[in-house]
Amino acid sequence: MKLAILREHQAHETRVAASPESVKKLVALGLDVSVERGAGAKAFMTDMQFAQAGARLADTAQAALDGADIIFTVNRPSADYLVFIKPGATLIGMLSPYQDRAGIVAYAARNIDAFAMELMPRITRAQSMDVLSSQSNLAGYRAVLEACYVYSRAMPMMMTPGGTIAPARVMVMGAGVAGLQAIATARRLGAIVSATDVRLAAKEQVESLGGKFVMTDSKAMADAETAGGYAREMSEEFKRKQAVLIAETLAKQDIAICTALIPGRPAPVLITEEMVRSMRPGSVIVDLAAEQGGNCSLSKAGECVDIGGVSIIGYRNMPGRLASDASSLYARNLLNFLSPHIGAQGEMNIDWQDEIIIGTALTRDGKVVHASLQAEVA
Ligand code: NAD
Repeated sequence: MKLAILREHQAHETRVAASPESVKKLVALGLDVSVERGAGAKAFMTDMQFAQAGARLADTAQAALDGADIIFTVNRPSADYLVFIKPGATLIGMLSPYQDRAGIVAYAARNIDAFAMELMPRITRAQSMDVLSSQSNLAGYRAVLEACYVYSRAMPMMMTPGGTIAPARVMVMGAGVAGLQAIATARRLGAIVSATDVRLAAKEQVESLGGKFVMTDSKAMADAETAGGYAREMSEEFKRKQAVLIAETLAKQDIAICTALIPGRPAPVLITEEMVRSMRPGSVIVDLAAEQGGNCSLSKAGECVDIGGVSIIGYRNMPGRLASDASSLYARNLLNFLSPHIGAQGEMNIDWQDEIIIGTALTRDGKVVHASLQAEVA
């Protein structure tokens, strides 16, 4: 069977869906791997490395896709590429199913079996395939470095003959995968860190990393986590209480790292304009949720804006700023996802009853099969 890896074409994309290491393992599984030339260039993975790992190089996306049974991608392919994918092929990537209903219908119409890696169930067995975790972890780390770079002061306390520099105060909104890594990174740099979340389980995790947990309402928080491990939308009363607490805390902070998300919904707005204006000039907000609407009402996706001396960073694709590591981890996630479904002769043998397959499959045999999408695209 042939597996194709394409060069990503989105403006902000630097990642690639395979690494020389993952290609070597895919070839060892019996797959014929075709990599479009230049696919790894922005992640510093050369054509030569892919070829040495056993891939065949294709001059164009069309050539890579020609006859491919499996396609690995970072982002959903554009309609221009779909026409080159043969009916019956399997497409695996971050397909943004909730933002691309038309795409899902198109996969079904072309009889492409599509799997959205963002929908991976949060179960222990799937941890090594969890692209949201692998990418969010890097995003949380990088967000702190981006903040440091723009921040007008130093992060750690410094006692010098000329005087003492106070440590930076960092607040992290949302203590999931990205938030916890942001806390750990800010702590390593010597900042004083506080964090808030709606899930009660986050309290212990924040404290174990040396952060102070800002608690809104422990009773409401006990019920804030879904069976899938994600946050629920909270009540209006909770939101009011949380806003008061965030306003009080934020006015004393130098840096805010925003990571709060609710799957399938716009990001919760946690920082208002008034709160931004309460921060002292030179402070920084990094909003990792900017592409989902933003945790800060003033953030602009893809930009760094200045509001009264407070910089608000809303860069897109933060993991892409660490393209090599992000690609390597993502490539391993895809390899781990596919491997159990490849038979001894390199043939595709998908177990459609597997919880991981059920959780991620969007389309099968010309039909939309994902439970959360069937009604919407009907
Ligand atoms: P996420 O990216 O969906 O959200 C980030 C964080 O924002 C979450 O902690 C969420 O609770 C928080 N949040 C949402 N609304 C908020 C609000 N109004 N105010 C403050 N915070 C808010 O979540 P995630 O980082 O992907 O992880 C969610 C959970 O899943 C974590 O507990 C994580 O440890 C767990 N997880 C489990 C597995 C696994 O078992 N396979 C893998 C990855 C993550």
